[in-house]
Amino acid sequence: MTYERVKKSIENKPVKLARYEKFNKPRPRKFGKNANRCRKCGKRSGLVRKYGLLYCRQCFREDAEKLGFRKFN
Ligand SMILES: [Zn+2]
Repeated sequence: MTYERVKKSIENKPVKLARYEKFNKPRPRKFGKNANRCRKCGKRSGLVRKYGLLYCRQCFREDAEKLGFRKFN
């Protein structure tokens, strides 16, 4: 079960929620897979970090020409 799903299931149990938050809240990452997300859709996989783009590969493909790329595949 993911963090969000568990959180939702104990939303109206304040004591449990507080304890759950204390021990299971995801920390902000400085590096690693979960450090960056796509600025358009929020995906964490297939990220293009080159030139500080921070787009996932799918969104990059959609927006590449708008951003001024002429060749991108
Ligand atoms: Zn994306």
